Amino acid sequence: MEHIVNNLEIIHKRIKHACKKANRTSENVRLLLATKTVDTNKIKFALQQGESLIGENKVQELKQKSNALKDIHPEVHFIGHLQSNKIKEVIKWASCIESIDRLSVAQKLQQRLALEEKEIDIYIQVNTSFEDSKFGVSPDQTIELTKEVAKLKNIHIKGLMTIGLLSSESTEIRKCFQCLKQLQQKIKTLHIPNVEMNELSMGMSGDLEIAIEEGATIVRVGTAIFGERIYPDSYYWNETKSDI
Ligand SMILES: *Cc1c(COP(=O)(O)O)cnc(C)c1O
Repeated sequence: MEHIVNNLEIIHKRIKHACKKANRTSENVRLLLATKTVDTNKIKFALQQGESLIGENKVQELKQKSNALKDIHPEVHFIGHLQSNKIKEVIKWASCIESIDRLSVAQKLQQRLALEEKEIDIYIQVNTSFEDSKFGVSPDQTIELTKEVAKLKNIHIKGLMTIGLLSSESTEIRKCFQCLKQLQQKIKTLHIPNVEMNELSMGMSGDLEIAIEEGATIVRVGTAIFGERIYPDSYYWNETKSDI
């Protein structure tokens, strides 16, 4: 567990340093613990170090861990691919869904929320790296999707989310984050009712500095805090697209 303390310290230093470089205050960048595959005791320990926000990718893990952690009541975001048949469970445990990338699933989400008289915050997930393997709406369809989702009255759009290109070329990664920032700026100028565009969830263990320089308000970090995972990311990012 000691390594988690050290790793968190390193991450907070990296965030501070990047903010300084970008002339931003670090209070404007939140750390989300990406906790897929991490066992509950470790998450609990990290939360006890002062963290308050976690993100899960799979509904099964979301349910099991949120339940186990409910006495600590962390803020829980869903950051994985949302399948229509899992909506009911997701809205039970998550206060925000960062991964809305198509109208059909947003409409089903709206139906369920209306039925339960609930509301939820969401981000639109954008595929800024143009990789087939990643989910997310394409940048040129993002504004249209935002306008349509904004009409669903139990769903509140708070910002955008993306996964940067997995690359060693920092200029290529930066382009992804710049793309998300530009979309945010464009959408802001449209003043769409029911849309706030204050959040940009971007940046992970390997690229959080670039994301912060480009305006991230949430960085999602897993590996650099909890260590390597046994499953490859493709297991979470590249699962069946059959329900689209
Ligand atoms: C796993 C995951 C992260 C964290 O990635 P690391 O490289 O482990 O920091 C961030 N966002 C999403 C959507 C993820 O699935």
